[in-house]
Amino acid sequence: MENCIFCKIANGEIPSATLYEDGEFRVILDLGPASKGHALILPKKHAADIYELPEETAGKAMILAKHMAKKLTDALHCDGFNIVQNNGEVAGQTVFHFHMHLIPRYKGDQVGLTWKPGTLSDEDRDDILARMGR
Ligand code: AMP
Ligand code: ZN
Repeated sequence: MENCIFCKIANGEIPSATLYEDGEFRVILDLGPASKGHALILPKKHAADIYELPEETAGKAMILAKHMAKKLTDALHCDGFNIVQNNGEVAGQTVFHFHMHLIPRYKGDQVGLTWKPGTLSDEDRDDILARMGR
């Protein structure tokens, strides 16, 4: 993809702080980290988001996330970990090349990834289940 910054980073055209690389993925440090060690898993082949991502790549990305979470936790002694993946502007996606955020969490940090819980109404539950064919 021309003009996709993450294609250029993933494929090494633009230098990055790389934590891991193989034939299909590069894991880099986020330049605007939510916490110390915030990293991004980038597939080398362009897919805009989870809808475009091939199933095989999705599976491998999750396995890589698991390995990187362990390595980062061992290296940085974080107390917990968030894995975040945004799709669409409304969901906070700003770079339209699929990526997974690996966010180490530390006791007392100010990383804000929470939401105000609502209430699941009977109407919504039944509507959603019906729409999902359940
Ligand atoms: P998202 O909002 O989920 O699309 O995430 C995009 C992430 O990419 C943000 O956390 C940015 O800080 C990060 N980012 C944008 N440009 C770069 C870059 N050139 N190198 C590293 N991280 C970047
Ligand atoms: Zn791309």
